[in-house]
Amino acid sequence: MKYIGYFVFLVAFIVIFVPVTILGGVGEGIKLPVILNKFPIVTDNNVKEIAKIDSNIKVKMFDVKNNKVIELDLEDYVAGVVSAEMPVSFNIEALKAQAIAARTFVIANMISLGGSGCNKHQGVDVCSDVHCQAWISKEERLKLWDANSALENWNKIMEAVESTKGLVITYNGEIAKHIKYHSTSGGKTEDSRYVFGYQEPYLVSVESPYEEVAPNYITTVVMSKKEFIRRMKELSPNINLSEGRLANQIKILEWTEGGRVNRIKIGDKEFTGIDVRWAMGLKSAAFTIKIDTKNVTFTVKGYGHGVGMSQWGANQMGKRGYSYEDIIKHYYRGVEIQKIEDVLKLGQQP
Ligand SMILES: [Zn+2]
Repeated sequence: MKYIGYFVFLVAFIVIFVPVTILGGVGEGIKLPVILNKFPIVTDNNVKEIAKIDSNIKVKMFDVKNNKVIELDLEDYVAGVVSAEMPVSFNIEALKAQAIAARTFVIANMISLGGSGCNKHQGVDVCSDVHCQAWISKEERLKLWDANSALENWNKIMEAVESTKGLVITYNGEIAKHIKYHSTSGGKTEDSRYVFGYQEPYLVSVESPYEEVAPNYITTVVMSKKEFIRRMKELSPNINLSEGRLANQIKILEWTEGGRVNRIKIGDKEFTGIDVRWAMGLKSAAFTIKIDTKNVTFTVKGYGHGVGMSQWGANQMGKRGYSYEDIIKHYYRGVEIQKIEDVLKLGQQP
């Protein structure tokens, strides 16, 4: 009978303490993989599952960062441009429109297809810089994103590229030669003749609504009168300006169709709005100037040259249910979207 006491004690011990110990241990144990899952290590192998898009067109690109020429499959190049030129958080229809714009730009530039290539680096179709189109490698892009969302982000880029594979913008059955885009128009895009000096029927000024949410919809730049004069003298060494009379020495003479400064008189000289934009470090040429006793204040609308597709405008259109086709046909007037093969065949006809 004296063993019963030990037996009860043993059972009680097993029932109460052992599960606590085991569960506690398991509890600790399962935390580790959970923590690891939160920070997946993203390597090239992880993304192999994502379909690789094959293309028989090769792009010769000067990789500015690594100072070497590399050859890329067209669609891989397009993915690198989309992920460098547009935030992945943008609406999928905007990303698709960006893919088509990027693809059209490079096809129009390709030396093997009669294009003139990058005019900054000889013998290549494009460079990886904003001079042509910004481009980033997949490896670098994955590293820059938060590891939690990197794979999902890359899949979204690939969806935009893959679903528009081989599509380009055409005008009158030919590849559109001057596809331009920019960050934020500020409400109205610009006619190409004011910025690039040539006219294209598809690069006319159009309304770009819903952009108010863009971070650079309106920016201000304030500088002392002294600094303003210093910068103007850098632009035009013989300019005649004085701090005391500055308010009467600046006059906007002409606006562009898209609401940017076309011609402006400063002191005894005349400038373009674009000259002043760069001299003063403004985000666009859509600016107004206010001069008080101490400072010169620029109020600036939009970000970029303003020609062609506004990326923020495209995102807002996408969010409102417009398709990539709607977006492209809104920003590039009178264009069509076609398969590269069909267009190149047309081009070969006598
Ligand atoms: Zn270039």
